[in-house]
Amino acid sequence: MTGIYILLGCVGLVFLFFVVRGAMVRIRRKELLKLRLTDAQRRGIAMDFPLFARLPTNLRNQLEGIMHVFLDEKSFEPCGGMDLVTEQMRHVIAAQACLLLVNRKHDYYRSLRSILLYPSAYKAESEHGDHDVRLGESWGSGSVVLAWDSVIAGGRNEEDGHHVTLHEFAHQLDQVDGSADGVPELHGRGSYREWSRVFSKAYDKFTRKLDRGKRTVIDDYGATNPAEFFAVATETFYEKPKQLQEEYPEVYKQLASYYKVDPLGWES
Ligand SMILES: [Zn+2]
Repeated sequence: MTGIYILLGCVGLVFLFFVVRGAMVRIRRKELLKLRLTDAQRRGIAMDFPLFARLPTNLRNQLEGIMHVFLDEKSFEPCGGMDLVTEQMRHVIAAQACLLLVNRKHDYYRSLRSILLYPSAYKAESEHGDHDVRLGESWGSGSVVLAWDSVIAGGRNEEDGHHVTLHEFAHQLDQVDGSADGVPELHGRGSYREWSRVFSKAYDKFTRKLDRGKRTVIDDYGATNPAEFFAVATETFYEKPKQLQEEYPEVYKQLASYYKVDPLGWES
């Protein structure tokens, strides 16, 4: 009998530990969300990521709070000969990554723990054992890998549709439910049905066009699989909203409803 009481006591303590820890995380996040960047920090981010300065004030305020939580909870690790990850680098990456979280319910990329930063494109071993050159990767096991020169190239050129940070963090949102299938966590069953209908139709249209040798507003890399299609469509949504809305109005509508923003209104 005593054994059962000891067991129940242990279960209770573990339960209490998680309840207290959860409450402490919530309190800390609430305080961090109130923090704002300094003008110098804002100017620094805008240099490498001009879109930051064009955001509507209410979104930028939210973004700054979310960035403080992100910077507090995720670690940055220099790789491939990079000496250190500077504050400027952390801020630019945090601003780009957290742009995907503003205005909506989210859990701060809950499976992500670290961002591994290389100075430039790096070689990685593929599934087949050969080595290919990469600008970034997103792992379901808790890391995003980025090449810094691609991060700033993606941020500074706002209209080419290429943005490695948005791409890899869209993968994180897709991977959080355990599978990288081009379907992030949505609200309600109806949303999944509509998402699948719109995205499979668009993916078919997109790959058929490519087969006929035609280019579309979505980069060809999106044809790799539905997960890449979602990541590339996300880059296009933020960088070429007008063209995406014209060519793929239903995809634009789904992304605007998922990300809860309308980048069409941010055009300079
Ligand atoms: Zn990808």
